Amino acid sequence: MTFVIGHKNPDTDSICSAIGYAAFKRADTGEEYEARRAGELNPETQFVLDHFGLQAPELLESAAGQELILVDHNEKEQAVDGLTEGHINEILDHHKVGDIQTPDPIYFLIRPVGCTGTIVYDHFKKAGLVPEKDVAGALCSAILSDTLAFRSPTCTPADKEAAEALAKLAGIEDIQEYAKAMLKAGSNMGDKTDEEIFNLDYKKFTAGSTTYGVGQVTSVDADELKVLKERMTGYMNNNLEKQGVDMLFFMLTDVLDESSELICAGEGAEKAASEAFTSAEADRMYLKGVVSRKKQIIPQLTEVLPR
Ligand code: MN
Ligand code: MN
Repeated sequence: MTFVIGHKNPDTDSICSAIGYAAFKRADTGEEYEARRAGELNPETQFVLDHFGLQAPELLESAAGQELILVDHNEKEQAVDGLTEGHINEILDHHKVGDIQTPDPIYFLIRPVGCTGTIVYDHFKKAGLVPEKDVAGALCSAILSDTLAFRSPTCTPADKEAAEALAKLAGIEDIQEYAKAMLKAGSNMGDKTDEEIFNLDYKKFTAGSTTYGVGQVTSVDADELKVLKERMTGYMNNNLEKQGVDMLFFMLTDVLDESSELICAGEGAEKAASEAFTSAEADRMYLKGVVSRKKQIIPQLTEVLPR
């Protein structure tokens, strides 16, 4: 049995690409592949699974002793615990090349597209296979989630094409309407604690000698973002040590305005942010046109952080 698994604090791509790629590998090889998750589902992903009647993948506590395929990440810090005692067979991703090493040559595919789901769909297509309706719906949702329904600068023509083909297979009639309902479900914070909200979509990075973490929340509701700004600012200032990094950043992303406000904590964080994002207004880090952590935040921060 080989487990297909995405990153910790899984987002819709990490869950749905794992489901989709496991389905592809089963169909393509006739062997046993199953999706696993490296953390709790977020409300957006729960909406997607409910919508298409899919079971949530089981939680994998440790990768030790397991055969693995990693999707949607290739950094140790983001991977399931016990990775070094597991055996990685393949990596499928759309992020910068990270720091995972393997003892033997593997299938390692990184494409600069907006979503791992797009790469998974490409495997179906090239093999002359067609995903089942529910799997197609999951993969389409992953693309809509990662590209914020084609609004993100990470979105490529390949993503749009794949999402449109998958939407047909999944019986999604109006892509934008479906995406809106999905994104709205994702910004329903309900009775979540500050810590839960902070960790919904949080990733750690290393730049030279600096470790830092960047969280993000996306919403279609500007008023909700104002409330979240207060809550996350308080949480970050009180929990920097607990997170075990030098600096913390958090993106409050307004999907409809296509902008983000960046808040930060930790020594040197504010300085780094103002150096990295010179276009921001003086009193607040309002970044018009910035919605992608991967493309519009991480490279810029990495550039200015002390090495
Ligand atoms: Mn992801
Ligand atoms: Mn992704």
